[in-house]
Amino acid sequence: MTDLASSRSTAESDVASIVSSVVAQARHTFDSGRTKPYAWREAQLKALRELLIDNHDEIAQALEADLGKSAEEFWLTEMGLVVSEIDHTLKHLRRWLAPRRVSVPLRVQPGQARIVREPLGVVLIIAPWNYPVLLTLGPLVGVLAAGNAAVVKPSEVAPATSAVIARLMAQHLDPEAVHVVEGGVPETTALLTERFDHIFYTGNGVVGRIVLEAAARHLTPVTLELGGKSPTFVDDGVDLETTARRIVWGKFTNAGQTCVAPDYVLGTRQTLDALKPLLIKAIRDSYGDDPRSSDDYGRIITARHLRRLVELIDPSKVVTGGESDLSARYLAPTVLDDVSLDDPVMGEEIFGPVLPLVEVSGVDEAIEVITGRDKPLALYVFTSSPDTRRRFVRDTSSGALSFNIPLAHLAVPELPFGGVGMSGMGAYHGEFSIDLFSHAKAVLRQPLRPDATIVVRPPRTSVQRRLI
Ligand code: NAD
Repeated sequence: MTDLASSRSTAESDVASIVSSVVAQARHTFDSGRTKPYAWREAQLKALRELLIDNHDEIAQALEADLGKSAEEFWLTEMGLVVSEIDHTLKHLRRWLAPRRVSVPLRVQPGQARIVREPLGVVLIIAPWNYPVLLTLGPLVGVLAAGNAAVVKPSEVAPATSAVIARLMAQHLDPEAVHVVEGGVPETTALLTERFDHIFYTGNGVVGRIVLEAAARHLTPVTLELGGKSPTFVDDGVDLETTARRIVWGKFTNAGQTCVAPDYVLGTRQTLDALKPLLIKAIRDSYGDDPRSSDDYGRIITARHLRRLVELIDPSKVVTGGESDLSARYLAPTVLDDVSLDDPVMGEEIFGPVLPLVEVSGVDEAIEVITGRDKPLALYVFTSSPDTRRRFVRDTSSGALSFNIPLAHLAVPELPFGGVGMSGMGAYHGEFSIDLFSHAKAVLRQPLRPDATIVVRPPRTSVQRRLI
């Protein structure tokens, strides 16, 4: 073995043993029963809320460093959402956790049946970089509310946010039950060799497959919050000014690095032609004449991601934008027109501030294009026609379907958030998080006297036989 190889394997075994001991501590804490009482769950949620409120400025600075995200955008799209998820959970948690009586059929009477929610155990959260607070702490709300211990792996691609979250979580949350492992592939790989009771992964589908394979070895249930191309259809005859403003907001927030950002726009030639100048106006209204100097416009996470995006832009199709600056990780809000379904920009999830406009002949072709591709995480339809709404609800499949507004569905805590098909499996938020991170245990109680339960006796009469 060379020196390099031997030092690498020593480093790997160090990571493995640290990770192993973290998971063992989390499991020990869970097994002690410490995380089960309602009071513990409530205290953790309140501590998480306090962590966010008391350290808002410091966390906002980390996001500014990682993503050029403004404090306003951080509040609107990350912190505010986690705080309202906590408030919504605290308001309803007792009810969600209460055992639910269910009726017992005649043949099992006189029994009593209940569904009791029990925590799963130790949950691993693997988070991405694009909303590094929301997607690390959002799932944690449900994990803690359901009474689990947690191991949290923030994304190394947003290093400033990862560092601040790790430090604050250790200070504010129960350090015996909630553990943070910072790092990248070696740390995640080591974590994935451990046995968890649930793995919650948010990120791309390539790593999603790695997570699923690793989980299979321990038969661990997995939630995959993945991405993909989220289409937007603009119907003829809608208010295009409002539509353009909303599409621009949904697309260029976080410089397009949003899993549910409108990826591309479908519309008839007539509608796209009318929409184009309104998109340009909405971009100017949002970010001024020079988006580079706007505090409200973010940056691309790494130079590598920026290079990938620049390669997707065909200069002959640029309607507005296209300018980039590698050293500043800047890419202007960009709109492309006359894009065909075979263009490279239509091949993969864009995940950046590039908006292709693709012509279709109308609703039928739009539905054909959408259903001919992977099931999206979100589908947006701008229309004022009840018939078009019905068609999209009935004839398309997506994680979410939203009419006339992008992104906003994830701010509705009563709605599940998750993908379908290639955009993911499993859903969370609000009560769906409790469902996800707990087991619905069937509890049946049968008195020994009177010994009258039909199901445990051979049926003697025709009446009894019909009851079985
Ligand atoms: P990322 O690069 O931060 O990776 C996500 C996590 O996977 C990180 O914690 C990282 O350490 C880990 N990881 C990376 N490579 C690994 C490997 N080889 N083995 C094990 N772990 C590994 O984030 P990303 O994947 O670039 O995130 C962007 C993608 O996530 C987009 O496709 C986006 O649509 C999707 N996304 C989905 C949602 C959702 O809620 N459904 C939210 C945000 C992002």
